[in-house]
Amino acid sequence: MTQKSVAEIAPGEAAQAFLSQSPHKLFVGGEWINASTGEHFATHDPATGDVIGQIAKGAAEDVDRAVLAARTAFDTGPWNATSPMERSAILHRIADLIEANIDELAELETLDQGKALYVGRWAEIPGAAAQFRYFAGLAPAIEGASIPTSITYQPEGKEIFAYTRKEAVGVVGAIVPWNSPLVLTAMKLAPALAAGCTIVLKPAEDTSLTAIRLVELIAEAGLPKGVINLVTGLGSAAGARLAAHPQVDKIAFTGSTSTGKAIVEASQGNLKRVTLELGGKSPVIIMPDADLSTAIPGAANAIFFNGGQVCIAGSRLYVHSSLYDQVVAGIVEIAQSIKLGHGLAPDTQMGPLVSPQHAAKVASYVQSALDDGGTVHCGGKVSGPNASFVEPTVITDLPGNAAAACEEIFGPVLVIQSFETTDQVVAAANDSEFGLAAGIWSEGLSNATRLANRLAAGTVWINSHAMYDASLPIGGTKQSGYGRDSGQAALENYLELKTVCAVV
Ligand code: NAD
Repeated sequence: MTQKSVAEIAPGEAAQAFLSQSPHKLFVGGEWINASTGEHFATHDPATGDVIGQIAKGAAEDVDRAVLAARTAFDTGPWNATSPMERSAILHRIADLIEANIDELAELETLDQGKALYVGRWAEIPGAAAQFRYFAGLAPAIEGASIPTSITYQPEGKEIFAYTRKEAVGVVGAIVPWNSPLVLTAMKLAPALAAGCTIVLKPAEDTSLTAIRLVELIAEAGLPKGVINLVTGLGSAAGARLAAHPQVDKIAFTGSTSTGKAIVEASQGNLKRVTLELGGKSPVIIMPDADLSTAIPGAANAIFFNGGQVCIAGSRLYVHSSLYDQVVAGIVEIAQSIKLGHGLAPDTQMGPLVSPQHAAKVASYVQSALDDGGTVHCGGKVSGPNASFVEPTVITDLPGNAAAACEEIFGPVLVIQSFETTDQVVAAANDSEFGLAAGIWSEGLSNATRLANRLAAGTVWINSHAMYDASLPIGGTKQSGYGRDSGQAALENYLELKTVCAVV
């Protein structure tokens, strides 16, 4: 990474036109408005530290206005009463608009978050559009059931007619993190809209730009006023108010485990529904029969993709002792070849981390690994004009209970350990407070499938990692949270089951 590569970067015209709209506003009841305090905060290009926009600093009062708009739109507005096919058509229009603006959205995501452009352009932004398309398909398929009963005490000559309905849960507060902002937002908004809910969206303070642009596109797609509302601002103010608000029916949260716990506490006032997509420390296992020509690059990609700022990052690698030296050498070689640079530079493979503060936190874990007796084979250093780049890092020889081996680092830091037996690796992989995802590399599908069944994880990939699809449920066990995004399971998060039992 050189300073020159950072200085040469400029986004395209559409992204520049969007950036020139700064200061960016809140979206409440169909209007773009300033925060009630009139305050803003700066958002930065993490590669350079340059200010790239001013974001409205929504406060509790703004959340109250947004919730009122969403509440009114749900209770009296047309959205929930709109036919499923009409909702489906609008969701398809949102997907069309995302696809039509894909380059702009990918550039904004890179500028705001730092990620290499290809991550947004080819994975996350198409993934966001796919969420709206998938749930557009499910909107007309929401159905209850008619249920035969064994009730014997109905009046003579009468019958029981019992059925269930699936009804929109109501006003949803969607709170999302900074690592993959647009696609994680789409994972909440698409099923919520398909179900007929109304929404108040609170993006992460470090990465609000694509949420603002997405809400512009959603408004353009023709949603009625008040169905989608956007309050940018700090988690401790806007986020906390949303989580505690008595008129919010459900919080759909993605973020850290500690914030997830705060949200559960805040939600208790009205016992709102909560789903939590939280942190992870996901194990990847290379079995003795793995094909190393795919397992080594696959395990490297599992941790280094998006700078390791991925909830399901394969940050603990367990390698069978017979392959250990070869795998360590192979992954170190890949780590050292990864080209760091500004995310918009065409040859960049890994951008900066989201902020210099986060880079310093990641680097502190590498120092802790050294203090705990670990061997750092490569990387670990912070660099760049804004001290935000962290070189891909490979660590071995750490005890399993060292901080770097068991806490979520959320950066490009891989800890490798060896194992002898399947029982041993199952015990080690499951010895974690997290249970989000896991990966297995093995040419023996039967053994790999049986191993997958023994791993405590919401998702297990075999001979791959991070294969996402809008149809595949993703979410955690243990302290990685509860509830699922994506797939039919996600739609259920936004629906309440009503039973109607009639004597007819
Ligand atoms: P974070 O918990 O700090 O913040 C997430 C969101 O919560 C932000 O919008 C923030 O403003 C808001 N927030 C902060 N305090 C709040 C409060 N008291 N009440 C309500 N909202 C509050 O997380 P982060 O650092 O932005 O994101 C990284 C974390 O997200 C990692 O732990 C990562 O594993 C997790 N993550 C999980 C998944 C998943 O699907 N399981 C996906 C992506 C990221």
